[in-house]
Amino acid sequence: MKRGMQAVVTLAAMLLTAAMAAAQRVGGEQVDLDVLQRIREEGLSHSQVSALAGYLTDVIGPRLTGSSGMKRANEWTAQTFRQWGLANVAVEPWGRFGRGWERVAFSGRIVEPFVQPLQGSALAWSGSTRGTVTGPVVFVSIADTSDFARYRGTLRGAFVMRDTVITVGPEFEREPLRTPLEDLFAPVPTPERRFTPEMRERFRRARELTATVAAFLRAERAAALLTYSSRQYAILRPQGGPESDQARDSVGFEPLPAIQLSQEQYFQMYRNLQRGVPVRMELNVQNRWLSDDLSAYNTVAEIPGSDLKGEVVMIGAHLDSWFGGTGATDDGAGTVVMMEAMRILKTLGLTPRRTIRIALWSGEEQGLLGSAAWVANHQAELPRISAYLNVDNGTGRVRGIWDQSNAAAIPVFEQILWPFRDLGVVAVRHGNTGGTDHLSFVRAGVPGFNFIQDPIEYGTRTHHTDADTFERLVLDDLAQAATVVAFTAYHLAMRDAMMPRPPAPAATGGN
Ligand SMILES: [Zn+2]
Repeated sequence: MKRGMQAVVTLAAMLLTAAMAAAQRVGGEQVDLDVLQRIREEGLSHSQVSALAGYLTDVIGPRLTGSSGMKRANEWTAQTFRQWGLANVAVEPWGRFGRGWERVAFSGRIVEPFVQPLQGSALAWSGSTRGTVTGPVVFVSIADTSDFARYRGTLRGAFVMRDTVITVGPEFEREPLRTPLEDLFAPVPTPERRFTPEMRERFRRARELTATVAAFLRAERAAALLTYSSRQYAILRPQGGPESDQARDSVGFEPLPAIQLSQEQYFQMYRNLQRGVPVRMELNVQNRWLSDDLSAYNTVAEIPGSDLKGEVVMIGAHLDSWFGGTGATDDGAGTVVMMEAMRILKTLGLTPRRTIRIALWSGEEQGLLGSAAWVANHQAELPRISAYLNVDNGTGRVRGIWDQSNAAAIPVFEQILWPFRDLGVVAVRHGNTGGTDHLSFVRAGVPGFNFIQDPIEYGTRTHHTDADTFERLVLDDLAQAATVVAFTAYHLAMRDAMMPRPPAPAATGGN
């Protein structure tokens, strides 16, 4: 990494003169070239992202909100911040989340028509079997509750499939891992709501029916509900089970065992049932409930400001993850990038004018819960938060940033990011990106931003899957991102004015 980075630093120095000239001509940002060089040197030549990411993924592991992994992550991040000498370090409760859940044991086999070990996982907040259970696999076609009558009294001890299969096959065309330059400058498609109210209502009804079906299967004493992964190649993508909401809320409630299988095994069983070939399965799934503490927590820490310390620049990412893998790219990557940005600033002994605060959220995967609660709990501070910066699009290096329809932010970002062109940061784009914690700030009228990143394997392999592990991280990209974030936060904390407020709350997208 080092030799390449030195070449890059020299090239950057050549570009900087031009950058400064442009800066002063366009918008008058006073970009501090001395600090820029020191941040680049620390971030690119003395990066700690490998050690941080390694510990977070290999030692702490997955961090489903409410689980013991999440607790360890809150404690470790706070302890790390204290070791670095950050101020006001806290593991801050944000409200009631409900019961924690974690996996204890999972084993199983398909036993007919031939023996094969099960490729599967429990779904979150789903139930356990009573030891090892064996039974037939059956397919049920349930479009609404009137279909229950056809199956009543027939499903005891059965493994129940309800989802029809989709057509899949070899991937003839792979998605590019890095974004081609022309795509970064392509016109932004007319903003449209990703989901119409009608679609949202349909999703809500489908979720409701799924929970009702699970309750029916529980009453019928079925062995388990079987679902399949949304990824091919035996990649699992387990998320919440059909009775998650009730199971989180109601201590003592024991939901139906619900598992996800690989597409390939589920589809094989489905095809055999279509052929009239009997399929039998054996399963032992054990999960644990954590009911002692129904609260959830964010980790926060600060570098106090000087003459403007009452104003704050915030950076953040979500510390929680799904549980199939170890949450490396979602969002261990953003977590490590933001931690490393704080370490760089602290190591260099920089004293920003505004306070720089890091927040590592929980409950993001269940609907931006931790960041939304933080914003609700800190209303009085919001007018003095200059900006919130987020990284949550996987491991890819930063290629730019969305202005989140706040066009006044464009000339500011253009000038901050210009000196990082040699590291691939090229696009300050007008438009919105959604899906993650910056929206909690945007919805409250605080300028919130999420960086644009190269996709690498985020959409195709790692997002919420059991392949989301340390191996999938591109460490040089994380070091680049931390360097860019550190300088962006520092500059925003130093400039005379706060970041311009957006014209009106302009939130789009879901999660
Ligand atoms: Zn995420």
